[in-house]
Amino acid sequence: MYFTSWKFALGVFSRQLRVISKGVTMPLVRLVHKGVRFPTPTRLEKIKGIIKEIVAGALTCPDSGGELVPKEVEVEVKVSELGDSLHERYAVMFYIDANDFPSRKENLQSRSNAIAVKISTIPEFHGMSGFVWVRLFPAAFTDFAQTAQYAKLLEQFEQRRTKNRKIKRKDNTSLRAGSPMYFYCVGCGAEMTVPENYTARASSHCDACGELKKLGLLK
Ligand SMILES: [Zn+2]
Repeated sequence: MYFTSWKFALGVFSRQLRVISKGVTMPLVRLVHKGVRFPTPTRLEKIKGIIKEIVAGALTCPDSGGELVPKEVEVEVKVSELGDSLHERYAVMFYIDANDFPSRKENLQSRSNAIAVKISTIPEFHGMSGFVWVRLFPAAFTDFAQTAQYAKLLEQFEQRRTKNRKIKRKDNTSLRAGSPMYFYCVGCGAEMTVPENYTARASSHCDACGELKKLGLLK
């Protein structure tokens, strides 16, 4: 049985994913300015804290994974390096990238307005030309560490396939009545049996290949 090995590999894989997803910060606020001078680094940290609170409050939504607390928002401060028309017209720009959740998208404009209203009351930005631009997008994240796990799962798949090539396939029509029906995984060729009186269709893949398919690793 090769169950132990692929289940172990998947277990390691999902533990890694949990660690990885903890390290990813969304939403990301990029505060771009043209040389606005903040009084002190301490004050800048305070401003970042205020921005995190404002953005978390305005973008939080009931979708699974959409509820936000301030520490989940990251703020990056940059001096403008672009010479496009936006950067010419505005002194301070807030680009906010966040995950695309249906209930967040539904009233995105009013969420953006709420952020802009609150940010413009921060003394450093008060009376300044600026904007808030909230961009939502669907996202997929793959860490290089995952690819090592994928390679291991695929290696195990190849081993299964090589081993299963030796199986002599049974012809269900030639079996005596009452004996189980035999099926073969379309991925690795593993033999799967189903009682003769089965009602549900036998699955096309064995469990291990089914997992590979879910991960998008089987063609
Ligand atoms: Zn299989």
